[in-house]
Amino acid sequence: MVIDSYVVDLYVRFRDLTYGGSVEMNVSSDGELLINSVDLSIRSVSIDGKPIKYSYDGKVIKIDGPVSGVVRIEFEGKIPDRLLGIYRAPYGDSYIITTQFEPTGARYFIPCIDHPAVKARFRFRVRVDGDYDVIFNTPPLRVYWDGSWKVFEFADTPRMSTYLIYLGIGRFYEIRDKVGNVDVIFATPLSDRVEEGAFAIDVAKKVLEFYSNYFEIPYPLPKLHLIHVPEFAAGAMENWGAITFRETALLIGRGSTEASRRRVAEVVAHEIAHQWFGDLVTMAWWDDLWLNESFATFMSYKAMDALFPEWNVWFRFLADETMNSMLRDSLMSTHPVHVPIASEEEAFEIFDDISYGKGASLLRMLENYVGKEDFRRGLSNYLKGHAYSNATEDGLWRSIEEVSGKPIMKIMKAWVDKPGHPVITVETETQGVTLRQARFVFGGNVTDTWPIPIVFRVNDRVNRVLMEGDSLSLNIPETTFLNVGGSGYYRVKYNDWSKALNNASDDIERWSVLNDAYSHLLQGSVSLDEYLRLVKSVNNVVNYLLTTSLIMQLGTLYSIRPSAIKEAFVDYLKAQSRALEGMSGIDDVREIVLARRALIDEDYEKTLADMVKDYENANPVMRQAIVNAYAIVGDNPFETLKNLYRSLRTDEDRVRVLSAMLSIPRVEEYAKALDFLVSGEVKKQDVRMFIVGARNPFTRDVSLDWLVKNYKLFIEAYGDPGTLSRTLIATIPIIGIGREGEVERFLRNLNIPGIEMGVNASLELLKVYSAFYSRYA
Ligand SMILES: [Zn+2]
Repeated sequence: MVIDSYVVDLYVRFRDLTYGGSVEMNVSSDGELLINSVDLSIRSVSIDGKPIKYSYDGKVIKIDGPVSGVVRIEFEGKIPDRLLGIYRAPYGDSYIITTQFEPTGARYFIPCIDHPAVKARFRFRVRVDGDYDVIFNTPPLRVYWDGSWKVFEFADTPRMSTYLIYLGIGRFYEIRDKVGNVDVIFATPLSDRVEEGAFAIDVAKKVLEFYSNYFEIPYPLPKLHLIHVPEFAAGAMENWGAITFRETALLIGRGSTEASRRRVAEVVAHEIAHQWFGDLVTMAWWDDLWLNESFATFMSYKAMDALFPEWNVWFRFLADETMNSMLRDSLMSTHPVHVPIASEEEAFEIFDDISYGKGASLLRMLENYVGKEDFRRGLSNYLKGHAYSNATEDGLWRSIEEVSGKPIMKIMKAWVDKPGHPVITVETETQGVTLRQARFVFGGNVTDTWPIPIVFRVNDRVNRVLMEGDSLSLNIPETTFLNVGGSGYYRVKYNDWSKALNNASDDIERWSVLNDAYSHLLQGSVSLDEYLRLVKSVNNVVNYLLTTSLIMQLGTLYSIRPSAIKEAFVDYLKAQSRALEGMSGIDDVREIVLARRALIDEDYEKTLADMVKDYENANPVMRQAIVNAYAIVGDNPFETLKNLYRSLRTDEDRVRVLSAMLSIPRVEEYAKALDFLVSGEVKKQDVRMFIVGARNPFTRDVSLDWLVKNYKLFIEAYGDPGTLSRTLIATIPIIGIGREGEVERFLRNLNIPGIEMGVNASLELLKVYSAFYSRYA
């Protein structure tokens, strides 16, 4: 089957939320031709102008082969509210029409061969019934009126995959800028928010230049839109030349914090990296989704590091990408980075920590192993060799292998094709040490080996060795630090954790020891006392890496067993607050520390709660702390926070208040907050904030009952099972504590295709957390 191009001629009745038109595809097929088309009304099918016989079951149009010529399909469709395919995204009392296709939404929009490897050129003509703006991947060549229709004729796209098509219709307000000869355009439907796109535009311009130089390939389209979509299931989506974002990932205004600026920069840099990695060169099938996401994730940090060296972005990388993915990857039920995908439904489930965080961490390990310049050249050659086409991971490994002369294929295959990651143990010998490796699993280590590029440090000397078997003898002292720069995707089990921490020479090494100790605590091979002693010895050290990682770890333990953790957690947060006094330039860390302290330190809560009355004049960095404190000690916290929510102007503030509501410890008030979440007043995209509520240790039963009653909403709102799968992993291990048997029966009986990984991972992690709960009764 070969397809050359599509000509798509659409009309859209904006107020009726209906559309239709024709799709012509220039195609040849030896056998039966299958055209994806979900829930559309098919009016006619013809080849070269002659009507032909076809069948349509609501999902696929079948035409007997062989087929050669221009297949023309006339169709009609409706524009629903579900956040997939073409949909209505409301704001205030108006809406825009927008699209979200990855992985399989394009078939809900037009009849097409909806497969990432079936690339074609697209020519779009769109008529709308009023004076609206229309945004597409390419700029319009002509805009004119035809009676009451406003017509847009867009330039042909390059060869591209269907999941990257974008169409947006409504009234948009813009900032236009230029870098080289590329137009960079911010577009929002909110007329009073347009200036809040300035920061993203600035980042986008710099990032476009950075990647053009790094990849040695200019940005291939004449324009790039950054589009604010008011209801959006994902954080952002890399449609070629027309990137879409939810508000909190794009807009920066007067009330935005430093943390928000960094998040926006990261997401903009991630989506722009996809314009090359994903859009110009695309994975051949969804089993290589990780390659797209790992690269965009890794590259976004490289770009940020170049643009904002003062941000210390690798600290953020280790905390947010490496640490989080290692947690999931410590389960027997984790999946390999490269995962076989039999059906398209399964593809929804793998947009997870493994595909993003683990994959990106493996790339960082690889770059460290081959060196920055060989890595860059290998990557650039790979992109040049597959431009406007598709590729698999093997092509990339080969390309880096050719440049570096190192056995990249062998090493990387082992890391991406096998689930899990190793733990290295150290045995002292009369001469030096013996390192042994096994697979680290919370339930107990399992025999397995990886080719591990170990970077170790003896005093000040950094050395490298590739450990290939299950053991390796080295003539080095026992105090050798075994994961310099935290670049290795493995854990180390130290014989003496305090000694290891003392021996660490910088904050990354300290973090590495603490992260390893935490995972062994969950495994049961380090005691809580020992772990808390290690935490205490760094409680004055403030930086994004150590502080947010420890708050995450202590916060999880607190959610499982508050009584066992509270005192140490409050001490830690007080020490951090003291250390932060007088420090500047780390408001992103300050916000997290204060917000967390406001949830568990009663003395601190009393000083803050009153400030809720003047929330909108409060320093943005304090706002989360203020509403959190109010949730714990305020009067009628649900009513007060609900009224505040209704008065707010930005999603950044709304999300803060929602998050506080879901932290209310009183059961009845908390139950009202959960109902508010699905009352229709809160955006659908924010239903997944339920995850915050699930971490509330005082309301577990209400959370679990609510999830059992409402889980279908996740599929209805998002249109796919992926969000439910990820929500289960993030919530069940905590809210299931004490009701394990009931939870297992509930999940095993769900029978929803595309959530199996989520069910297995959440039940396994529930066992780990329940065991911790019982150990520290
Ligand atoms: Zn991405």
